[in-house]
Amino acid sequence: MTDRPASPPRRTLRSPAALAEAGLIPPETVAALDRVAARFSVAVTPLLADLMDPADPADPIARQFLPDARELEDAPEDHPDPIGDQRFSPVKGIVHRYPDRVLLTPLRHCPVYCRFCFRRETVGGGEAVLSEAELAAALDYIRAHESVWEVVITGGDPLMLPPARLAGLMAALEAIPHVAVIRLHSRVPISDPARIDTALLAALATEKALWLAVHCNHARELTAAAETALRRLSLAGIPLLGQTVLLKGVNDDAASLEAVMRALVKNRVKPYYLHHPDLAPGTGHFRLPIVRGQALMRHLRGRASGLCQPSYILDIPGGHGKSPIGPTYLSDQGIEDWQGQIHPYPPPQLR
Ligand SMILES: *Cc1c(COP(=O)(O)O)cnc(C)c1O
Repeated sequence: MTDRPASPPRRTLRSPAALAEAGLIPPETVAALDRVAARFSVAVTPLLADLMDPADPADPIARQFLPDARELEDAPEDHPDPIGDQRFSPVKGIVHRYPDRVLLTPLRHCPVYCRFCFRRETVGGGEAVLSEAELAAALDYIRAHESVWEVVITGGDPLMLPPARLAGLMAALEAIPHVAVIRLHSRVPISDPARIDTALLAALATEKALWLAVHCNHARELTAAAETALRRLSLAGIPLLGQTVLLKGVNDDAASLEAVMRALVKNRVKPYYLHHPDLAPGTGHFRLPIVRGQALMRHLRGRASGLCQPSYILDIPGGHGKSPIGPTYLSDQGIEDWQGQIHPYPPPQLR
């Protein structure tokens, strides 16, 4: 391993060579990792680069963002569109799977590229932003479908949009009477928190209910700067939800999972979903069995406040949507309590 440079990098690192220069990967791995970077985008913001400990080969931050030669290993279960977005995309930038809500993906780039991303085949690279005409067509689709009660703006990372474009998008959605709720999914408060400034908050001002789901997988991601960004969002009246991916070697132990959930709640972020990892190409080294996830959820339930409990979710391959995957506490034997003891329930009269 290489030594840390005296001063952390101040620009986003976008190639294995840049990562090596910053002391984050050994120079002798650059050639192999260039092949990974040719297939899947690489970006590490200065803040996240600074959080990594190059001396720790199991660093949970590095593992999420630094390219790994194993990403070129294709497993038979891998799928380029693991949750079937394409099947449910009626127009560019819209995924409409459930009657009452659509995804709107106005752009396909992110401040950082997570190595486990389920949209890794489509983010980064080429046509990164919807053109004006494409965005207009996506908004027309929402206008024409009165069953759409909620619009989930995701990406890419929607908080990468310039504030003026974001404000335009919010105004367009605000003007659609049947859209009651707008939800943003973002990693910016964690990966590039300085973007959460006055201009961005002003762009998010809307009369409609605006929710923000923050993607965060490890307590260490909640840096002082991230905490400031979350406080600003919260003071702006935006309810915050947490979205976490269960990842082998990142948060698949009871202490790490509990720590990230407590850190989120402490920052006014309500854990919403714990995602079982999707079958995205080259992400096999992040996968773990569902029984392991269920055991971790059980442990969390036994130790932490109800506020710290997300739903453990599988996005069913093929585009069948999300389902909770337990664990379940009620069985033929009765109901299990937080300490693992089973009590008969319901009473025979109520069966
Ligand atoms: C995940 C997802 C949603 C949002 O699902 P919730 O359970 O409401 O969070 C909506 N549409 C699509 C296509 C999705 O993949």
